[in-house]
Amino acid sequence: MVGAAIAYGLAGQGKRVLILDGADDDYRAAKANFGLVWVQGKGHGFAPYQRLSRLAAEHWPEFADTLTHETGIALDYERNGGLTWCVGEQGWQARQERLEEWEQQVPDLPACTEMLERPQLEKLVPAARLGPDVVGASYGVTDGHVNPLKLLKALHCGLKLRGAELLSNSAATHIQQVEGKGFAVATADGRFEAGQVVIAAGLGSTNLAQQVGLDIPLRPQRGQLLVTERLAPILPLPTSGIRQTAEGTVMIGLTQEEVGFDLSTTTTAAARMSSNALEILPELAAARLVRQWACLRIMTADGNPVYAESDSMPGAFVALCHSGVTLASFHAGLLSQALGRAELGNDLTPFHHRRFNVSTTA
Ligand SMILES: Cc1cc2nc3c(=O)[nH]c(=O)nc-3n(C[C@H](O)[C@H](O)[C@H](O)COP(=O)(O)OP(=O)(O)OC[C@H]3O[C@@H](n4cnc5c(N)ncnc54)[C@H](O)[C@@H]3O)c2cc1C
Repeated sequence: MVGAAIAYGLAGQGKRVLILDGADDDYRAAKANFGLVWVQGKGHGFAPYQRLSRLAAEHWPEFADTLTHETGIALDYERNGGLTWCVGEQGWQARQERLEEWEQQVPDLPACTEMLERPQLEKLVPAARLGPDVVGASYGVTDGHVNPLKLLKALHCGLKLRGAELLSNSAATHIQQVEGKGFAVATADGRFEAGQVVIAAGLGSTNLAQQVGLDIPLRPQRGQLLVTERLAPILPLPTSGIRQTAEGTVMIGLTQEEVGFDLSTTTTAAARMSSNALEILPELAAARLVRQWACLRIMTADGNPVYAESDSMPGAFVALCHSGVTLASFHAGLLSQALGRAELGNDLTPFHHRRFNVSTTA
């Protein structure tokens, strides 16, 4: 998702772009995520990430329009705001305090969240019969959602239409600097040269980045989710942990589990997610579950994105994050423009991994 968005943006600037992608059985968060374009609460404790998420959400409508216009693929993107449910008075208070702190991190930006009491909430979701303990929700004005599979398909289609080349089953194994020519990247089937290299290989990035002097530890974090059969419209906007897709299925999530590279699904998680969802929408009890899956998030040490250029091998960049759907508009837009200039610029300095005090030289 990250690499495809960057490639789409670079190709749009007339750059010659080659994407070396791994195999279908690689870990691919892009194919199993929740599809939120989400701002509220993002970057709590790290204002640059809040600014970035807000910027990305602002750019999403134009990004979606352009991508659909170029490819003919509808993304099912909607930006009607998003809700984080509050269960019990204490839950409501805690959410209000957290979002107040969060809004205060960027006093120069207008507020983009508000707290809703239950009567206001009921007006926003009239078809939903809420559980008795739901006291309200926080409402993120700029939040939205999209079909992530259609987004990925459109990016792949769009980057090819813009002239980029995508090689699947072509995992990069070695990256070397080549005097005067930039870089040579080896795969099992060949060797490719390029003036610049951008490593955006999700959980496969650590090893590649080390080869160009970028030492960025990553950890997988498992997320499980459930999907129901198609239902009549209940939720006109996405919410924390429950989202109704354009087709009518309801996605219920999400776990955050530190279990290493383990893609198993568990009944414990299914039971917990179901019970949380029924607390909010008791009528979901009548819905049949049709799928459960697990996927791995790409987590940096502090959970915030990393965008960096190698000090020892300029021209080699890395792009890593765990909200590649939300940030897709930024990756295809401002980030790819910066990469096109081979200069990340001051605005992205806070996202350098030197914030972890990790050595940046090989
Ligand atoms: C359960 C879950 C829910 C999520 N929900 C949301 C959400 O609602 N909103 C949101 O914004 N984000 C969400 N995310 C995160 C989002 O899915 C990821 O941020 C996004 O997919 C990351 O994309 P990526 O390209 O970095 O990594 P991936 O999608 O994992 O892709 C990595 C790619 O790199 C390739 N690769 C690996 N090694 C190599 C190599 N050596 N050479 C070449 N290619 C290689 C792989 O084949 C793969 O194609 C969620 C994630 C999970 C797990």
